[in-house]
Amino acid sequence: MTASPPTGAALPRRFSTRRRLVLAFSGVVGAMLLVFGLQALALRRIDRSVDAMEDGDEQMQLALQLGAAIHEQYGLQGQYVLDGGAELTGYEAARARAASLLDRLEARTHTPQVVAALGAIRVASAELDRVFREQVAPAARGVAPVAALAHDRSHPLVTGIQRSIDDTLAQLQGAIAASRGELEDLERALLRGLAVVLAVTAALLAAAMLYLSRSVARPLAVLTRGAAVLGSGDLGARIAIDTPDEFGALAAELNAMALRLREHQARLVESEKLAGLGRVAAGIAHEINNPLQVMLGYLSLNRDHLDRGLAGQLAAVEEETLRCKQIVDGMLALSRPEVVLARQRVDLRVLCEDVAERLLPQARPAAVRLAVSGAAEALADGVRLRQAVFNLVRNAIEAAGYEGEVDVRVGASELWSEISVADTGPGIPPELRGRLFEPLFTTKDGGTGLGLSVSRAIVRAHGGDILARNGDGVGAVFVLRLPRREAGATA
Ligand code: ADP
Repeated sequence: MTASPPTGAALPRRFSTRRRLVLAFSGVVGAMLLVFGLQALALRRIDRSVDAMEDGDEQMQLALQLGAAIHEQYGLQGQYVLDGGAELTGYEAARARAASLLDRLEARTHTPQVVAALGAIRVASAELDRVFREQVAPAARGVAPVAALAHDRSHPLVTGIQRSIDDTLAQLQGAIAASRGELEDLERALLRGLAVVLAVTAALLAAAMLYLSRSVARPLAVLTRGAAVLGSGDLGARIAIDTPDEFGALAAELNAMALRLREHQARLVESEKLAGLGRVAAGIAHEINNPLQVMLGYLSLNRDHLDRGLAGQLAAVEEETLRCKQIVDGMLALSRPEVVLARQRVDLRVLCEDVAERLLPQARPAAVRLAVSGAAEALADGVRLRQAVFNLVRNAIEAAGYEGEVDVRVGASELWSEISVADTGPGIPPELRGRLFEPLFTTKDGGTGLGLSVSRAIVRAHGGDILARNGDGVGAVFVLRLPRREAGATA
């Protein structure tokens, strides 16, 4: 099994959640600013219309005051005539007030008709004053013809001034009415605008919330549920988010982490089993080692007294007895975490041929064919490695059957030295593939289920591994590989 690579690749900025949040909020804020800006413009126009109305009102007040001032001025002229030219109090003040009101009105108005009317009032008022000073006043004092004393409200100059003032008032009223109409229009537009603002704001907020719910809240909920499932111990579960953003990256990281945890857990279980096995083996070894020692003692004692044929056979018995002892010792050593390997340069071809030589006689009378080819070396504990290869080849011979074939190939790549053991047997059923290396797993009647697990433990202790697969068309292939360089070595 291989661990998935961590998926911490850089995310395309276009899809980052931070960017999405900024986009959604700036969209809402931007649209609201635009709408509020338009509303502010409308309010400014309303303000201007109100100002125009107030200004029109003030101008009307001034026009009325001007009319009153001119009438007062004309009334004082009449009083002067009635008094026989005796006294002229307040006349100059009334005239100055009328002139000042005229100036103020002219300064404030920009309507051409009003400007024209005010000009006419100014001319008529000056003429009225001139007639009074040059004709009426001397006649009142008796120094000019009495005809000039005709003085009443129907004087053409007075009626002309009154008409001009009426015109001015009518113009100003018209302007005020226009401003009022504009104001009402603006108020209606503003109300409509406010309704649109409310609707647009609500729609934008709803769209932003929908967008955020789809792109943030929903994947977050999936992540939370997935993390809870993984947290509950179901490490085979997968979080199904494959979006190219932080959520997709986080889901991929969590999935990869769960996979690594599962592998780690499986290895832990495996090593726990091996450790348990080692404890049992320690007890058995204690009992077996003593009889083995006794057997070896008797064998070496009698070696010199036997005839040649028997001596050869007993030598083989001695050798295999020694191997039994090594295996028991090896299992004990493997069951302890601090395995010490006696590494040396091992010719893998020689090791495989040696194993084949040992195993073939056991396979007889079967006609199984066993071939060893290739060449490679490895830095390994020869005794332990032999034990692992022995298990693989023995399994292959057993699987290949009576007339089967076993092909052992030795080779090397840049990183690994490899021994592949292929057979023409039934192959590995898919449902058993995951269990082959479990300690004590066996499908054979007299099997122990220790061969593959112990072999893999030996090879992993060397930094290598054993991989199992089915052959092309027939049988199974077990590949044992060892690193060509020790971990940490630089050359
Ligand atoms: P044992 O040989 O005692 O059963 P192993 O650990 O060596 O224990 O093997 C475990 C199981 O793996 C075997 O029982 C068998 O089902 C399967 N197996 C091992 N080697 C092969 C092979 N070459 N072809 C098919 N199945 C195999």
